[in-house]
Amino acid sequence: MTLDVALHVALRAITALLALAAFGYGVVRAFQVRGDGWRRILRLVGTFLLLGVGSLSVLDAVTVIQRGVAPEDELLDWIWVILDALVPLFFLLHIESWRRRDLLERQLAALSETDPLTGLPNRRGFVARALPAIGATQRDGAACSVLMLDLDRFKAINDGFGHPAGDVVLRGVAAAIGQAVRTADVAGRLGGEEFALLLPGDDPATAAGVADRLRALVADGVPHPAGDGSRVTLSVGVAALGGAMTLDAALAAADRALYAAKAAGRDRVVIA
Ligand code: GH3
Ligand code: MG
Ligand code: MG
Repeated sequence: MTLDVALHVALRAITALLALAAFGYGVVRAFQVRGDGWRRILRLVGTFLLLGVGSLSVLDAVTVIQRGVAPEDELLDWIWVILDALVPLFFLLHIESWRRRDLLERQLAALSETDPLTGLPNRRGFVARALPAIGATQRDGAACSVLMLDLDRFKAINDGFGHPAGDVVLRGVAAAIGQAVRTADVAGRLGGEEFALLLPGDDPATAAGVADRLRALVADGVPHPAGDGSRVTLSVGVAALGGAMTLDAALAAADRALYAAKAAGRDRVVIA
């Protein structure tokens, strides 16, 4: 094999490899794109163009090997080599920018559904996770409960020990909630010092047991800023989410039960 032929074949091989790698990656990414059908189709068209570039390069290299000579018009041949090296590179760069945009979009979506103080889902994140879980339990005809939790006399913690100390307590409570729930459960910080829990598969009596365990976990595990043996307590309202009931309706019922728990003296669980 002459140097000409070897060089020609090597360049086409590199081009083919780049194009085929970009093709494989592009196809995988195209199927990972969420929602938007047109964007997925455009990506697929782009990646199949790459498949064309890759296979043409392979064909060309094979032909040159069989003939044992590189094409005669050197200038034209070099222009072709550069072109089909640039095409996959161009697509590779594009695919990289798509990848970054996807990543940023996913990060943004996650941020918009996360409470920065506790790392728990915020109200939007809670609802987004709760709805599919509720759909699944309603399809299975399984029980499901929601809990509304509210710290007792939290304003006094803020007023007595400062907002940062209050924030530490909120983080501690969020950590306790994270510890108490199973993977199928959905937890969220709905706002201020109010948290919500969705317990798919649990009837209200079982959910009240979970709430009591959580109350003990917070009282024993979250240090009160006073440091004098005072305990962080919370009140909980529990409601069933049965049949075709909406999440909003169940949350409202749990909220009424929570109000009753407060009225009855706090630090307790009330079932709607
Ligand atoms: P109750 O037992 O009736 O629930 O009394 P409470 O004092 O807990 O209830 P209230 O709703 O009067 O007070 C809630 C307080 O939560 C008021 C607000 O300053 C505080 N709060 C809300 N969000 C935050 C936060 O992000 N950090 C801190 N440190 N405090 C917050
Ligand atoms: Mg409150
Ligand atoms: Mg409160």
